Amino acid sequence: MNDGVYTEECTDRLTDCKKILIVKPDINYDASRDLKEMCLDTREVSFTYPKSGVDLVSEVYASGASFVLQIGKRLTRKIGFYEGMTEELEKDIFTNVEDKFFNYHHHDEYSWRDALETVGRYEKDTKKWKGLAGLLLAQNRKFMSVTNHGGIAGWIKQSQVCEETGIKPIFGMEAYYNNYRGDDPEKKKLNRSANHLILLAKNIEGYYNIIKIHNDAQLNGFYYSPRTCDEALKKFGKGIFATSACFAGELPELLMQDRVEEAKARYEFYKSCFDEFFIEIQLIEMKEQKELNRKLIKFAQEMGARISIGIDSHYLYPEQSETHELMMCIRQGRTIQDLQKEDDDTWKFTVKNLYYRNYDQLLELFKSGYVDSDGNQQDAYEDDVFTFDIFQQACQNTRWIAVNCEDYKVDKSIKLPKLYENSEEVLSEMAWKGFREHGFDKCQDSNTYTERLEYELDVICLAGWADYFLITEMIVDKAIELRGEWGTGIGRGCFVSWNRVITENKIPVFISDVKIGEFVYSHDGTLNEVIDKFIYDVKEELIEIETEDGRKINCTLNHRILVTRNQKEEWVEAQNLLEGDDIVDLF
Ligand SMILES: [Zn+2]
Ligand SMILES: [Zn+2]
Repeated sequence: MNDGVYTEECTDRLTDCKKILIVKPDINYDASRDLKEMCLDTREVSFTYPKSGVDLVSEVYASGASFVLQIGKRLTRKIGFYEGMTEELEKDIFTNVEDKFFNYHHHDEYSWRDALETVGRYEKDTKKWKGLAGLLLAQNRKFMSVTNHGGIAGWIKQSQVCEETGIKPIFGMEAYYNNYRGDDPEKKKLNRSANHLILLAKNIEGYYNIIKIHNDAQLNGFYYSPRTCDEALKKFGKGIFATSACFAGELPELLMQDRVEEAKARYEFYKSCFDEFFIEIQLIEMKEQKELNRKLIKFAQEMGARISIGIDSHYLYPEQSETHELMMCIRQGRTIQDLQKEDDDTWKFTVKNLYYRNYDQLLELFKSGYVDSDGNQQDAYEDDVFTFDIFQQACQNTRWIAVNCEDYKVDKSIKLPKLYENSEEVLSEMAWKGFREHGFDKCQDSNTYTERLEYELDVICLAGWADYFLITEMIVDKAIELRGEWGTGIGRGCFVSWNRVITENKIPVFISDVKIGEFVYSHDGTLNEVIDKFIYDVKEELIEIETEDGRKINCTLNHRILVTRNQKEEWVEAQNLLEGDDIVDLF
């Protein structure tokens, strides 16, 4: 038996083999060159390529091959005889110890303002991969999954990086879930929060199904976040492995509230939607998680459910914890100093060390606990319910997920409708028309501008982006048609914070006192929810408008005001108001 080493002797024996099983890291890899390098006459042997996505151990048995070869770029070559190495195989010879735990629950830069780091970036100078791919290559890990919040924007990049590095991609998303899709403002408010759910594409069908779930959530389920619902999961759950996600998952929430019967019903529902549904226990540095894990494990045992381990990583290395905290502050417009103030109401991200752990680091946390952000030692996760056996089983299940997700090619071509036969000409004509309208053809530096526009049009048309620009123009036009001129751009016009707005109960409230989530009347008399507030300095002139009852309104010069002039209602910029204009009172 020869394990893991390629030698001359092996080559000799290889030529005697009737059947060789070749294990390749990626489906487009051509093995013949490597075989030639081993001086093997490829005509004399027959090959069996494993079906991708099938557990390698069972594949080796099923093939009946007398020799097994693991081969391909960026993989260590391993050669082994089938005969006489059964025991070794059972220990899974092709399993890297590094992949004993597969981190399927990971967030990257596409979890906006929530996670750090990219899937991968090749640095030409050092000839090294950075980002997640760099970490995986350095640790000899072979699978990469990213599950961003409600989004799949990172998939193409992930696919690209994986193709270049030979790592197997598993495409995922941490979906938001809330089953309410009606328009009732009260019910909407009650259903503001959304649960989490991890979805992983097992095969190409699942890949497209996650896209469908995602699109449906964006188009039909958006309220603060794109939310999926039972109907969509039922309809598009095929080809997907799912897990109950983090503390914000529906099952964790129900179990923490001791609503076990409801949890059971929901588990049965999820199980019926997907190819496989796992109860996710998490190993993170969060106090409440220990109790939740115990509840989840007991629940899984009662239901006969499979358990997986998630670590919900939000960055790659422990030392990025501080940077992450800083980002959390930026997201709320606060500073690190604010965090230190006792009375500060900044939402603190209490979970530290959400880095990309490997099996050993996970085991350490499981066995020894951790020191929390207040400096207190927290107990180990291991106890009478969360036993080492459960830990091992849950890790193995993560590997099972990685192996059972198929290796398939994804379509990375750009999907843009073709607007015209001659889109390039249309774009060019429009650009030159605008050029003349702005007077660039007659100005002093006319030549420089002409050269510049020619160059830019060249680049755009050569890259095949003419339709993209024309489509963007259509979107802008439509927005202006629907919303007027402020339907695009940066939404010009600001009030100062000591102006008042009218809230739900028709009571005027200072802008500075309005809270996110409150409803206020907007310019057209409709009730709208405040979803964000922005405070910023304006280096521009402010105008003060005085009304006949003595009220004063302060705003920027171009803030529009609805007035009646000559018996007609019209929107007028504050700077163009005339004495005697009638400000329209909507109430
Ligand atoms: Zn989550
Ligand atoms: Zn997460």
